[in-house]
Amino acid sequence: MADDSTPLRIIPLGGVGEIGKNMYVFEYGEDIVVIDCGLMFPDEEMFGIDLVIPDITYLKERRANVRAFLITHAHEDHVGGLPYVLPEFPGVPIYASTLARGLLGNKVREHKLHNNPLVAMEPGDELQIGPFGVFTFRIGHSIPDAMGIALRTPVGTIVTTGDFKFDHTPVDGKLSDFAILARLGAEGVICLLSDSTRAENPGYTPSERTVGDAFREIMEPVEGRVIVATFASNIARIQQVLDAASTFDRKVAVIGRSMEQNFRIATDLGFLQYPASQIVGKDKIGEVPAGKLVIATTGAQGEPMSGLARMANRDHRFVEIQPGDTVIVSASPIPGNEEYVARTIDNLFKAGAEVFYHTIKRAHVSGHASQEELKLMLGLTKPRYFIPIHGEFRMQVQHGRLAVETGVLPENVFIIENGMPIEILPDGSARRGQPVPAGYVFVDGLSVGDVGEVVLRDRRALANDGMFMIVVTVDKQTGNVIGRPEIITRGFVPANEQDPVILSTTARVVEAIENPGDHISEIALLKSQIKDAVSRHLYEQTKRRPMVFPVVVEV
Ligand SMILES: [Zn+2]
Ligand SMILES: [Zn+2]
Repeated sequence: MADDSTPLRIIPLGGVGEIGKNMYVFEYGEDIVVIDCGLMFPDEEMFGIDLVIPDITYLKERRANVRAFLITHAHEDHVGGLPYVLPEFPGVPIYASTLARGLLGNKVREHKLHNNPLVAMEPGDELQIGPFGVFTFRIGHSIPDAMGIALRTPVGTIVTTGDFKFDHTPVDGKLSDFAILARLGAEGVICLLSDSTRAENPGYTPSERTVGDAFREIMEPVEGRVIVATFASNIARIQQVLDAASTFDRKVAVIGRSMEQNFRIATDLGFLQYPASQIVGKDKIGEVPAGKLVIATTGAQGEPMSGLARMANRDHRFVEIQPGDTVIVSASPIPGNEEYVARTIDNLFKAGAEVFYHTIKRAHVSGHASQEELKLMLGLTKPRYFIPIHGEFRMQVQHGRLAVETGVLPENVFIIENGMPIEILPDGSARRGQPVPAGYVFVDGLSVGDVGEVVLRDRRALANDGMFMIVVTVDKQTGNVIGRPEIITRGFVPANEQDPVILSTTARVVEAIENPGDHISEIALLKSQIKDAVSRHLYEQTKRRPMVFPVVVEV
């Protein structure tokens, strides 16, 4: 039970040292609330992996203590892990704002997560969950209805910003809750956890509204079709596509599964405003004159299967890019996606389109705060302790420096890694706790967590140097080798019996098994002998290390 000496424990299971799979655990005695539960997309070294989610071993061991999942906003790096994590926590409610609940509703239906109630929690709401007084505040971001969460705990108030920027002219007119932040600051904030994505960027992040101006500037002289690719979740951006299109009396077609879905949900919930007559079905695109049409689609990250990539490759059912088209790629590449984006833009130019992308015209602004906004957040909340989150290590370090500039003591800034708890004690002191498990959990098709580092290492070896299999047949009675070894190889050298590497390797295997040393009765020993001889021989011959599989068949 919690008593006078019980610390509040803050444990990131994902989201620090990386951009993705945000998950922050707040634990006091026998009560836990979790803020966000995101996923991360794999990097190019993670062969065959679909998604990465946080390791929730720590939570599973304390299953009965988990009271709630609190969601700041519905971006995948904050909610994408829920379908894989919730089945472990039946009955635990998910608290989220209207748009987040709308978008999550699809996940609940698709993944049959009916065991977890979706509960309304709007910006400005106050509720009590166990020992935690939860107090939310509206914040600007690249998705409407985003919020930060303050937790009033027995050791003091903790503020988590979620992803944010301070946009003074937001497209939906809903300003960040400066008054609540100032009030929290006046009451006293023991610890702030704040978004570090753009901590390296000086100045202010421009308002989302500037993108609408860029859209109009680009569209005005254009006589052909305009195609805008952006994030399906960036509802404000989609609103600006609609607004700019209507300025030039153009109709809008929305294409791409996730964008069509979000468009419908956001419209139903009142987050998008447009006359119904402005929308044209994707199958009716051909009936609208080119100069009167805007197409909004997904694929601004160059995702190979997305709308834009397929249009560029002339592989889309409804739209093929043609000369006279103007394409606006309204996003900047997420680190790791640069290659895909560059390839897609190349293909768009090849198909004859004019293309505006992140380095040309300001057709995109970030949804994250730059340095001056981060300092404003620090100045409003005036925390005693500061934990930079949502960023790679160098961004956390830069954000930590900003905190010190605004008056946080250097020793009160905690640059931490996933699984590293910070404990705040009732006397107001803070310390680092013992690390808890917080690695990657890989999702590969239907399997969650079965593929680990070992499997990935094998996949990397296979991808880099291929595989090499040697089949040797042995007489069960005498132990003598029968016939010549057979070699099967993929991804290494051409699978041709006359290939010099295969010929020399066959000879080497024969040599190895003809001089078996003293006792080679054991099959396992024979196998390891073949493996060693072949690996060494192949490395000498080719300076490569394919995976070598010796197979011994007894007849
Ligand atoms: Zn995020
Ligand atoms: Zn976000």
